[in-house]
Amino acid sequence: MAVEGDEEVEAAPALPRGGRSEAMATRHNRHVPLRTCVACGKKTEKEALVRLVAPPGGGVEVDLSGKRPGRGAYVCRNGGCAVDELKKGRIDSTLRRSTTEQEWTALMSSIRVATTPK
Ligand SMILES: [Zn+2]
Repeated sequence: MAVEGDEEVEAAPALPRGGRSEAMATRHNRHVPLRTCVACGKKTEKEALVRLVAPPGGGVEVDLSGKRPGRGAYVCRNGGCAVDELKKGRIDSTLRRSTTEQEWTALMSSIRVATTPK
């Protein structure tokens, strides 16, 4: 869900009060977006997760680009979490979608491929 008026605006340069180290620390502590894995419930950086999307056309698919339209859910990318224990009802309620058994089976194999460490 996009927040209106939430575009990144370049902040006015801070007045140099405490020297340069302050500015560098700020740069280092940049906000990292966290997402919750639907399989293990851990909050992880978006980069370490695979996005699942409920596209407008129906079903649920793995969204490797992370940019497809539709409601999204996330699972750990590194294979460290138990995607096999993922429950269909969990995905259905998170994505507000009623996946068919066929769609679910296809999704699970896509998730396994996407989360297998290379
Ligand atoms: Zn996980």
